Amino acid sequence: MTGPSPPPAPPAGADYRCGFAALVGRPNVGKSTLLNALMGEKLSIVTPRPQTTRHRVIGVLTGPQAQIAFVDTPGLHQGARRALNRAMNRTAAAALVDADLCVLVIEALKWTAEDDLVLGRIRASGRPAIAAVNKVDRVRPRERLLGYLAELAQRFDFRELVPVSALKGLNLEPLVGAIGRNLPVSPPLFPPGERTDRDMRFRIAEIIREKLTLELQQELPYGIAVEIERVSEEQDQLAVDAAVWVDRSGQKPIVIGAKGERLKRVGRAARLELNRLLGRRLHLELWVKVREGWADSARALRELGLE
Ligand code: GDP
Ligand code: MG
Repeated sequence: MTGPSPPPAPPAGADYRCGFAALVGRPNVGKSTLLNALMGEKLSIVTPRPQTTRHRVIGVLTGPQAQIAFVDTPGLHQGARRALNRAMNRTAAAALVDADLCVLVIEALKWTAEDDLVLGRIRASGRPAIAAVNKVDRVRPRERLLGYLAELAQRFDFRELVPVSALKGLNLEPLVGAIGRNLPVSPPLFPPGERTDRDMRFRIAEIIREKLTLELQQELPYGIAVEIERVSEEQDQLAVDAAVWVDRSGQKPIVIGAKGERLKRVGRAARLELNRLLGRRLHLELWVKVREGWADSARALRELGLE
């Protein structure tokens, strides 16, 4: 074989561990925030809105004792009638079944019917599970956690219960340790430099979708998707054309806003973040396009990489 020699393998003793740890939980508990905090970089987009994550995103953390492939998933939710929601639930369910370990992410002091639904899926999968009790920064006084953790331990035979705050970066090392020691003994499965399965095109599209979600808030059309149509080198900068798909023509003016102000703000926010992520200047053009009923169409979902 020609080319550069492969990077040295990470230390992999006889008790090295490696596997897939699926971050599962109902929408909005902080799974994506947790993935990003664990990885120290934004791989998965985050907004205050439930159901922001639509795709499976893998982040690989290679340590001296274990290599963990975290799998961020869309939240498992109830009453999924539309094709897009069903596809999201399928993605989440498949990640759970493929996992070596489930990390059930929940919100401290809360337990809802949807948490029950997710726990039921974990139980049915027969996979071992750890509970990551997130958003503990909101718990005052902290002693209130003790009773909650005791109740949680009654619900399922979790391997470990770890309180964390993904937002504040609290107690993440103990969580990484707990996940690592509950993975199967295995040599690393990913090259040490590999940190995600998602390419730059995907990350650019997702950051644009995040800014759209933040800008549109309650007016966000349910059927909105971003597709990168063209990436090219233009002198000293990267030029990106992206289509913002809406699924009804009436949504187009909402997304564009009066005199195009809204779409401009979205473009500016996305560009600033992408300049930082890519370490270079970016020229971004956004085009709002209509594809009637895409969120209910299995074929359109496939074309947008959502199936
Ligand atoms: P997901 O749907 O489970 O992926 O949740 P996200 O990661 O998108 O987060 C949903 C919301 O919860 C966002 O507004 C986050 O900023 C917020 N959030 C996530 N983790 C924490 C945390 O540890 N503490 C607090 N206070 N908020 C959090
Ligand atoms: Mg998410």
